[in-house]
Amino acid sequence: MEQAAGQKPVNVACLSVVIGPARIAILLAALATGMAGRADARSTPDSVAPAPDPHPEVEPGQPAVETLPPIRFTADEAQAARALCVIRLATENVAAELLAPIEGEDGCGLAAPLMLSLIGAATVEIRPPATVACTLAATLARWTDTVLQPLALASFGEKVATITNVSSYVCRRRNRRPGARISEHARGNALDIAAFTLQSGRIIAILGNWSSGTDNGEFLRKLHERSCGPFGTVLGPDANDAHKGHFHLDGTARKSAFCE
Ligand SMILES: [Zn+2]
Repeated sequence: MEQAAGQKPVNVACLSVVIGPARIAILLAALATGMAGRADARSTPDSVAPAPDPHPEVEPGQPAVETLPPIRFTADEAQAARALCVIRLATENVAAELLAPIEGEDGCGLAAPLMLSLIGAATVEIRPPATVACTLAATLARWTDTVLQPLALASFGEKVATITNVSSYVCRRRNRRPGARISEHARGNALDIAAFTLQSGRIIAILGNWSSGTDNGEFLRKLHERSCGPFGTVLGPDANDAHKGHFHLDGTARKSAFCE
């Protein structure tokens, strides 16, 4: 399968890997930045440090947690995580760039972060690209092909072309509340989505459509319901005011998914 658009291995000093049959382009650009030694958090590319997240997830009843130790990775740990990531995504419809390890304070960090730009067989664009863990990238790709696109086709007769990302990796506690549990965003295990754009250009934003009686509203409510399970946590406008304009999807492992 041809390499995904926008994933040309430019500025890659080491190597790029394109693995079939799935469309996957793991650009090992980060290897060029010093895999021989421990990655330095200060060397993390600017693109790995997203703007502050205005949309914190909120989960009631969470216990207070003291400040967690900083996360650091040895070169061996980072390399092992990268190898596992490439293997994990070899059979998934994912186009992403493998970034340098993110070493953060207070329990934040990722050994093998991805800059995820395209997911699914129909190459849905993540705009802007999301910094996520490998496991979430795989979950998002499968959800796109098995939940999102079938529902879009049934609802509108066309597929989704773009997902509007409003938050992915960010080092913070839930609800930005000191003492709260660490956010799944701080592990690269969450994506906040504000809108879906169909192939025709039709935009379905969560804000303003969620409670409407239109087919847009029906699509969003069905999508929220059907995403519960593929993702361990699904939060939307009914959860609280912080989520009135976006879906929070994360890959938390639970006995039963937490969705509201
Ligand atoms: Zn979120």
